[in-house]
Amino acid sequence: MSFSDLGLRSELLRAVEEQGYTVPTPIQRQAIPAVLEGGDLLASAQTGTGKTAGFTLPLLQRLADGPRPKARQIRALVLTPTRELAAQIGDNVTGYGRHLNLTSKVIFGGVGQQPQVDAIRPGLDILVATPGRLLDLHQQRHIDLSKVETLVLDEADRMLDMGFIHDIKKLLRLLPAKRQNLLFSATFSNEIQALANQLLDKPTMIEV
Ligand code: AMP
Repeated sequence: MSFSDLGLRSELLRAVEEQGYTVPTPIQRQAIPAVLEGGDLLASAQTGTGKTAGFTLPLLQRLADGPRPKARQIRALVLTPTRELAAQIGDNVTGYGRHLNLTSKVIFGGVGQQPQVDAIRPGLDILVATPGRLLDLHQQRHIDLSKVETLVLDEADRMLDMGFIHDIKKLLRLLPAKRQNLLFSATFSNEIQALANQLLDKPTMIEV
């Protein structure tokens, strides 16, 4: 199987090819068609499985396919536990999206917030964020989450281990009720299962 069998548009296939990937990984084979269909997803996947491209590629495609708002607004939100992961996902989004007219930004805690506020002010389509900083900037009215169509929780187990559950629950209340939800976790504790039950509607389940 090749990437072109997965229903991805030419701009994304070109970017994948430029990365040097020829064969989709198992999680990519399963996640890409499921996310393109617009349903919810529950994926059990470790880092190193290619999960980032597994959600980034179809996410980009859905944004590129959808109606383009006049002003850029956050239509996809990726939550991730750490600054390093946020930066890494941001690089993936930029790389795979390089032939599409979509913009993305990354925000995380532990650094000054003004450069991030300045960076997001012109508007953006995709935001990659750690939960605490996102909540801070939202409370200061720098961020509008009312147009989010797709939410990704990446490394959900680590986010819970790091004590982000309350921030995540607050953030969920700021999002439109009707949206696509993708949850990735390496492990499945009762707490993750409870979050999945609350968040996901008839999810496609993937285990790799
Ligand atoms: P991830 O699990 O998303 O952190 O990705 C792990 C590593 O695999 C990253 O360095 C990716 O660049 C790489 N990768 C992702 N998908 C593929 C693929 N289909 N073929 C080869 N390498 C890949």
